[in-house]
Amino acid sequence: MRCAIISDIHGNFDALERVIVDAMSFGSLDAIWCLGDIVGYGPNPNECVRELRECEAGGTAVHAVAGNHDRAATGKISIAGFNPDAATAARWTIKSLTPETRGYLDGLPERLDGDAVPSLGDFTLVHGTPHDPVWDYMDSEVVALASLAEIGTPHCIVGHTHRAEYYAFRPKGHSGQLPSTGHDDGYDDDGPASTQISVSAFDHGTIVDLEPDVRLIANPGSVGQPRDGLSSASYLLLETTGGGQTRLQARRVEYNIDDVQRKMREAGLPARLIARLRHGR
Ligand code: ZN
Repeated sequence: MRCAIISDIHGNFDALERVIVDAMSFGSLDAIWCLGDIVGYGPNPNECVRELRECEAGGTAVHAVAGNHDRAATGKISIAGFNPDAATAARWTIKSLTPETRGYLDGLPERLDGDAVPSLGDFTLVHGTPHDPVWDYMDSEVVALASLAEIGTPHCIVGHTHRAEYYAFRPKGHSGQLPSTGHDDGYDDDGPASTQISVSAFDHGTIVDLEPDVRLIANPGSVGQPRDGLSSASYLLLETTGGGQTRLQARRVEYNIDDVQRKMREAGLPARLIARLRHGR
């Protein structure tokens, strides 16, 4: 089993294409798990959806959930809560979508659970958090811990923050290979007091082997608009070996940012959104 875990593509087809090429350099892809925000901000929303559909037509199982920008693009949520640049980009996206793209985005679920979709195995997929799949940010240990109680699988994959990182939860006293930078979470009800939490960045090349006692909430970062100080596209490669060991590998991939910025200028998209691709902020 080999799976590319991608998120927050944001209409950046050039980055998506390079990510898929990189993932396929390890061998054929059985699956792509997409954590949402396929469109919004970037100049090629239709091409990004078409790429996912072509992967699916080619035999790669694509499991995707909706992000807030996907919902805004199809009118399912209002853009009133968006900042001015995001709203401008959302309006541009809405009028640029083909009927096929709109139909695809419209059909995305907000959550996919491994206990309902067997091929997802031990994972639940949401854009934001299990509590509020479209809007909430997985941005603190408190949110992460609360999220564990809302899923029926050991692990969860999220997007939305555009930061490649993972929360690891292990029983106190556990001496696994994961970095032990965690601290006592302070919870004393129902088990969490015996849980140690750590948050770690998924730097390029980081490998995390899944362990029976360790639960993970992982974020692959953003393909199309990273915000962790690096401009390269970010994703995770999930592989299960013949021996049954599953591992996550963090990957960063360079793409032609100049080309994307040129297309954004031609589309009249906001200058700040164009500039931030270069800074990864
Ligand atoms: Zn996003």
